[in-house]
Amino acid sequence: MSGTVTAEAARLPVLLTQLRLPTIARLWPAIAETADRESWPAARTLAALLEHEIAERAQRRIARHLLEARLPPGKTLDRFDFNAVASLSRARFMALAEGDAWLAQGTNILLFGPPGVGKSHLAAGLGHALIDAGYRVLFLRTTDLVQQLQTARQELKLATVIEKLDRYHMLILDDLSYVQKSQAETSVLFELISARYERRSMLITANQPFGAWNAIFPDPAMTVAAIDRLVHHAIILEMNTDSYRRRSAETRAAARQLTPQTEEPQLTHSGD
Ligand code: ADP
Ligand code: MG
Repeated sequence: MSGTVTAEAARLPVLLTQLRLPTIARLWPAIAETADRESWPAARTLAALLEHEIAERAQRRIARHLLEARLPPGKTLDRFDFNAVASLSRARFMALAEGDAWLAQGTNILLFGPPGVGKSHLAAGLGHALIDAGYRVLFLRTTDLVQQLQTARQELKLATVIEKLDRYHMLILDDLSYVQKSQAETSVLFELISARYERRSMLITANQPFGAWNAIFPDPAMTVAAIDRLVHHAIILEMNTDSYRRRSAETRAAARQLTPQTEEPQLTHSGD
């Protein structure tokens, strides 16, 4: 190796760090060696290095988005048993999981159903899938969100905080029905809904359908206005089945009674 090559090789780590190209910094010695040995044209070597950087950059971005999304772990769509919810079409839901048009229009998804039917699991599963497809998602318990927004309002930062939430293509508001208007001004929730209207999507899960939403917003007029905006572009899914949690516990109990001699039967769901 000539003196110049060595000097250049010595400078590379600094240059690559400055340009924030960690993958090339890691891989270039091996790729350069192959290129030298096989007499690759410079363009081929350069393309190989850049392709590796781009591929890993996409992976790093997805890993970052997954971390920031705060999704409940393990609740992915491939672990969701669609056969357990007759009212839900797996094909339709998988189409939603690709994102595209409905996210571009700021369409909302409203998931209604009693406790234990899999609303949070399904919401998180959709979140996981959208992140894999390159979107940004944030999963929040609605009561926590309302609290954060109220604090922001007290600090005169409500508009800034709502604007920051714009970076998420989909906000998941889990358990909207647990919000009480006694939680002081739930009008912060209305402001969020208005700000995202026709621009950015929300997925809302709730035990109670609209009829009971007067308990959430400060007055009936605001309830109507909030529902109006939410449903204008919305996909409404009702999950009116029995609790999956309870059903799987019952299946377990029944299986134990039927097969007292054998070992624990294999279940698809561990229960919690
Ligand atoms: P909800 O939010 O409607 O109260 P969850 O999503 O928390 O219900 O579901 C309760 C538990 O049952 C979770 O552990 C969830 O993973 C599981 N579960 C519910 N429905 C299904 C399903 N169809 N397939 C697999 N697991 C499910
Ligand atoms: Mg839930």
